[in-house]
Amino acid sequence: MIGAWVVNKKVISGLNKEITIQTYFNEGNRNLSEEYLTLCERYINFYEKLIGPYPYSSFTVVSSPFPTGLGMPSLTYLSEKILKYPFIKNRSLPHEIVHNWWGNGIQPTYPSGNWSEGLTTYLADYWQTELTNKELAKEMRYGWLRDYTSISNEDERSLHNFTSRYHTASSTIGYGKSAMVFHMLRNLIGDSQFITCLQEFWLQYQFDSAGFHDIRDTCQKHTSIDLTTFFDAWIPTVGAPRIRIELGHDASSKPQLSASQNGEWIFALDVEISSQEQTHSHTSLITDRSTKLNLPDIKHDSLRVKVDPNFNVWRELYAHERVSTLRDFVVAKHPIYIQLDPNIIDGSELISSHFLEHQIKEKHRYKFNNQENNITIVFGGVHEIIERLNKLGGAIDFDELADKVDSEFLMVSTNISDTPTLMIGITASVTEEKLALLIRRARHYGKYSWLSVSKTGRTHKGQWPIKDQYFEF
Ligand SMILES: [Zn+2]
Repeated sequence: MIGAWVVNKKVISGLNKEITIQTYFNEGNRNLSEEYLTLCERYINFYEKLIGPYPYSSFTVVSSPFPTGLGMPSLTYLSEKILKYPFIKNRSLPHEIVHNWWGNGIQPTYPSGNWSEGLTTYLADYWQTELTNKELAKEMRYGWLRDYTSISNEDERSLHNFTSRYHTASSTIGYGKSAMVFHMLRNLIGDSQFITCLQEFWLQYQFDSAGFHDIRDTCQKHTSIDLTTFFDAWIPTVGAPRIRIELGHDASSKPQLSASQNGEWIFALDVEISSQEQTHSHTSLITDRSTKLNLPDIKHDSLRVKVDPNFNVWRELYAHERVSTLRDFVVAKHPIYIQLDPNIIDGSELISSHFLEHQIKEKHRYKFNNQENNITIVFGGVHEIIERLNKLGGAIDFDELADKVDSEFLMVSTNISDTPTLMIGITASVTEEKLALLIRRARHYGKYSWLSVSKTGRTHKGQWPIKDQYFEF
């Protein structure tokens, strides 16, 4: 034991040297130490094979009394309160380990954009997910696109201008969009080429700094696709392709489909074309505003075209694909607050300081007619909120849910006369202190559309279903 920490060690054989793995855990987490040593060994071995030799002689995980983690070369602090959770073991830990290659081993040249968060997110959070569950990996890609729909134009910066996360919009770009650009690069040049490029990039730039253009130049050696145009399309720009499918005719008047976009982004686009007889999947390289899709013998009658069905492109989601989530409200500009019930505590201050990124614009009591269609937060007793939600109808029966979980706290994103509305319900037993805790926790569930917490603390959550978007001809 050193000071307040219980220390454990394990020496593992790395690719070209021995590596000492250590945990410095507080007493309450000492039983997690073995598991963490094993996980660190597994991840370090995995990434040495994927990228190249681990750059340091040790790696240490320290449990920290502070809520946020921190990483530095060969060392990471993780909050002692959350060490036990699977998302720390499966995502945060590999993320911090991969930073030893990207971010610490090779530093980004910040003035040309910090690529290290995107590449680390892609190879750690995303890669580990893709290895174990392809459907969850698709959900993660969808989540990045979904997050993007909730940031406003004025908050959006290019990847060139991303240095570090300072609010939700910056992390949507610097982590989400950046990871998607690496995903699109991989789809463009091929899996094995992508991995070879990462290995070469590591070999050439370790203990040095590098920019997006160095990644580009390394990859260019392994593909005939012009990567200068690809990087120029994605790194210094804002916005995302809005993709449309059009039906025309070629010179011999055979039907011809083309994909059009509102810019000159470059990406591999999957389309799924169904006629009455068959479904045909096809990937095309999109480089221009309008690109013809080469498809063999499509019959003209009743074609249905599904665009990017697996969310492999950083693009604008279609209306049907855009489900409302709690996160929309976290980032909402100047929402309106309505307190429904005078007999429960006033939630406005707590919601403002623990949930929202921007201040509440107006506060009203009991009844309000929202003329401006500003995003609205309605706060009331659980039963009243459930009654209103059931009247609105939707994907779940809240009465049934409330019976099942004995809700003490409920948060539901919905639309009332086209106004995005967040309904929050609590029971009379919820104190201000408890409410602050529940609301702070709810922020971590931003990707979900609704959340319900029972008196015993059990959490139920869900996302509204995504509807398929088809072009029909
Ligand atoms: Zn990071």
